[in-house]
Amino acid sequence: MRKVPYFHPESGTYTNRRRWVGLSFFIFLIGVPFIVIDGASLFLLDIVNMEFHLFFRVFPFTQFYVLFGLTIAGVAGLIYVTLIWGRVWCGWMCPQTIITDFLRVFEKFWLPRKNIKGVNKYLRLIGSYATMTGFVFLVALDVVWYFINPYDFLNRLTTGTLSAFAIGSLAVSFIITWLDMVIVRQSFCEYLCPYAKMQGALFSESTTVVAYDEKRGETDCTKCLMCVRVCPAGIDIRDGLQMSCIACAACVDACEPIMAKKGKANLVRYWSAEKTPSLLRDKSFMVALVAIIASLFVIWQVFFKIDLQVNLSRNSNFTGKIISGQIVNGYTLVLDNLGSDEKRISVSITPAEFKLLPPITYYLVKGNETVRLPLMVELPVGKEESEFILVVEDNKGDRKEINQGFFRVK
Ligand code: SF4
Ligand code: SF4
Repeated sequence: MRKVPYFHPESGTYTNRRRWVGLSFFIFLIGVPFIVIDGASLFLLDIVNMEFHLFFRVFPFTQFYVLFGLTIAGVAGLIYVTLIWGRVWCGWMCPQTIITDFLRVFEKFWLPRKNIKGVNKYLRLIGSYATMTGFVFLVALDVVWYFINPYDFLNRLTTGTLSAFAIGSLAVSFIITWLDMVIVRQSFCEYLCPYAKMQGALFSESTTVVAYDEKRGETDCTKCLMCVRVCPAGIDIRDGLQMSCIACAACVDACEPIMAKKGKANLVRYWSAEKTPSLLRDKSFMVALVAIIASLFVIWQVFFKIDLQVNLSRNSNFTGKIISGQIVNGYTLVLDNLGSDEKRISVSITPAEFKLLPPITYYLVKGNETVRLPLMVELPVGKEESEFILVVEDNKGDRKEINQGFFRVK
């Protein structure tokens, strides 16, 4: 329960920084679904096609372990940040906080003063709710675009072919986002957010938190309550660190000019028990290690893992036969496409004395498909080569060379 009515701060050192960080991160989150190269998105969870896109590579859902690695990296990264800097994520970058801040700006625009009365007040209230609802609708739409390609969505919208699934997803996304952002707001952080519940276990003496200088406060605090009025969580920082504090530093900005007038240092500030805090203190070293290993795993999967597996095995029933003056060996070429894109595979053979039967110009392998190709390799009788190299190359330039033994007539 708030002690005093909320006051939305216009500016302040941390308030200004926080707005820039929040705005940049918000634009990034809104923009992510639109970043697409050659049909592959920066990030997309395509439920309809059972695949996900990550850094412009497409993975089938069967490779969920890549997403799992990404989740581990994200969670470990967040735990690391919390161990060192407390709840800065909540106050500075959490979409819940950023969007709630936007809504407060709209409210302040429509209802700048409390003393507006009569019809004017109701018209302004309607304007305020209409603006918030429109904004929340755009956010809900963007949430859906993380699951349905926005270009495809907009194309279907304009041609009237939007699926029931897309419309239903948008409706659910809108209702949840509206209730959360317009009604629940900051109470979500206190009562529902699972991350907030973990704070107790993650905080230590050395964690940086927003704290009030109790000792100096006894004599210096003017009891103006500005630090309480600006608090989005509705708490009084002078009562000590509380679970619902999101480390936004609005109270730091509020106290700063009051103490400056008295020529004193701020009573509220970011504070840690360690004078020069190390970035690898307490359990943070282990957590940072987990985050780095999980990130490296994802980087390897996305940028370095070749998603075409090739295997050549000998057909023992067809080894070393002589047909029309040629020694012919039978093999089975297995092409296993682990990606979800169709691949155009070309196969060639060296040295030049060897010939492939039938000659393969290219072969199309669908995403997640494994094909087995029977191959014949022939060598003129009298040539003494005992090994050849099969070169398999896909349309993206991934190239594999397989050294294989050749068997002569027994
Ligand atoms: S106590 Fe200060 S830092 Fe914590 S939520 Fe309130 S204003 Fe933000
Ligand atoms: S803003 Fe500063 S001076 Fe005013 S009540 Fe809070 S701590 Fe005291």
